[in-house]
Amino acid sequence: MPDTYQNYIGGQWVDSASGQTFANINPANTDEVIGHFPASGAADVKAAIGAAQEAQAGWRDMPAPKRGEVLGRAARIIERDLDRIAEGLTREEGKTYGEAKIETARAVQIFDYFAGEGRRLSGETTPSEYGRTMLYTIREPLGTVGLITPWNFPIAIPSWKLAPALVCGNTVVLKPASTAPLTALNIVRALEEAGLPPGVLNFVTGPGPETGDELTGNPAVKGISFTGSDTVGCDIYGRVTGRGGRAQCEMGGKNPVIVLEDADIDKAVNLCVMGAMWSTGQKCTATSRAIVQESVARRFTEKAVAATAAIRVGDGMKEETQVGPFVDEAQLDTVLRYLEIGKEEGAELLTGGNRLTDPPYDKGYYVEPAVFGNVRPDMRIAQEEIFGPVLAIIPVPDFEKAMRVANDVRFGLSASICTSDLTRAFEFVDRIEAGLVHVNTPTVGAEVQVPFGGMKDSSTGTREQGRVAVDFYTQIKTIYLEY
Ligand code: NDP
Repeated sequence: MPDTYQNYIGGQWVDSASGQTFANINPANTDEVIGHFPASGAADVKAAIGAAQEAQAGWRDMPAPKRGEVLGRAARIIERDLDRIAEGLTREEGKTYGEAKIETARAVQIFDYFAGEGRRLSGETTPSEYGRTMLYTIREPLGTVGLITPWNFPIAIPSWKLAPALVCGNTVVLKPASTAPLTALNIVRALEEAGLPPGVLNFVTGPGPETGDELTGNPAVKGISFTGSDTVGCDIYGRVTGRGGRAQCEMGGKNPVIVLEDADIDKAVNLCVMGAMWSTGQKCTATSRAIVQESVARRFTEKAVAATAAIRVGDGMKEETQVGPFVDEAQLDTVLRYLEIGKEEGAELLTGGNRLTDPPYDKGYYVEPAVFGNVRPDMRIAQEEIFGPVLAIIPVPDFEKAMRVANDVRFGLSASICTSDLTRAFEFVDRIEAGLVHVNTPTVGAEVQVPFGGMKDSSTGTREQGRVAVDFYTQIKTIYLEY
């Protein structure tokens, strides 16, 4: 019998005002209902915002190091419960249990890192042009902020928004993705157990548009941090900044790896295939274009096809599985549609791309990871975000052409080059239009202590993670003090 879960508002676990719920389904086995979650609407979000506002003064007045201590205790609780939380994550999102454990461990690092930020939240002191005057700045919280999170990293992304928001003294309303609400709920439980005062964090589940309108439109919400599709992100950005609020939107990617003829080809194949296929390609930093110098394109392609064909697809809870199912039917349909578009455009489907429907795949959203060869840079599969395990190989004559192709997309999140030529590597670093730049490392991955975010249509607003994360969640006060 699946559990029924509740919203968390003002320190109480409560049903939605309407009493309606929705089912959270395991994408590896759609017969399995993981739980029923509140199908909340505007009234629930309004109540959550009210509770957050009420808690604001008390939380803001708690010294930042003490706020950090709450995050530190939450980190220990997530660490204690890591296996259980990761299992829930795999069952609702589909990625492998190994990946889910790594992601949950990342959440522990995030809470630990921002726990420390409670002792580092500094301003600056500068000399004043007036005598006997102390001139300095302090950081203050924005107030109540709304966090809207996606399903693809259901613990890492809520954590990397929540931890800086809270340590900076903001109160929060968190709206997780409807396809993966259990993992976000597990973070809320950890923070509750860690002693977070009532109302400081409020958690509301339910459909994006119904809950989102109130969260993004309510003037009491001073900032919105969003990760998800660029359509929704751009709309939210316009709505929130249009009413004078602050918005930070992390959206899509179309991430390239340039492979030059002097690269270690085996390593290049490995990082492209891993970057494209792991987590079923459902990462904003996933590799989707391998831009390969023609002199090595054949060798690269043969090895990439062999490596992709050998990937074991299956239920993420099975030890042998390397790539799990798509998160839901909509995501499966999108990727199947792009596979058709690629074929129609004249790209060569070299391996994979079939939907798997025979047992043991018949109850899940499974597709074989795919590689397209001879892709032209103007094809839709080379321009648009697919968000699935699909690698497009684009042959190019030289480095100059590779750079042009790499930059000729509207996204600019992550990019990599495989080369042993240091000059080329530095030229790439200088000229690539991406917020995350890799040399001989995969486009995926995000360490907590450095900024994360993109250029062009990939991101708006200030960066997440690292010390700069606090820029979004604080406002600066400048003080002139004559003594
Ligand atoms: P969405 O952008 O629809 O969802 C992301 C979050 O926004 C979810 O919490 C969603 O809630 C919420 N949301 C949806 N509509 C609104 C709204 N009108 N106002 C406020 N919040 C809203 O992404 P999808 O999950 O539908 O995925 C679609 C595509 O987006 C993917 O195929 C991929 O290309 C991209 N994507 C990119 C991600 C990234 O990391 N950059 C992450 C996820 C998706 P709910 O779940 O209830 O709809």
